[in-house]
Amino acid sequence: MECRPNCGACCIAPSISSPIPGMPDGKPANVRCIHLTDTYQCRIYDSANRPDVCHQFKAEESVCGRNRNEALQNLNRLENNRFELFSS
Ligand code: SF4
Repeated sequence: MECRPNCGACCIAPSISSPIPGMPDGKPANVRCIHLTDTYQCRIYDSANRPDVCHQFKAEESVCGRNRNEALQNLNRLENNRFELFSS
């Protein structure tokens, strides 16, 4: 599926253990990545410094659901189950 505009759920809900520019320890779950803009775009999308885990994640309905709320719920459930959506 195509990445949903104005979502950004995958840049907020999951923890990311690998370093992100400006966030050397990655980020905890439910913390907004500092590179996510107010319009839910990745500010460093085309940068070589964007974490590999971000490049590897592809939108799919089983994770992203039918809307942003479902995406956040699914990602929070996966995070709580310690599912390693983003592994470095
Ligand atoms: S670096 Fe970009 S794609 Fe990765 S979590 Fe941050 S905003 Fe999202």
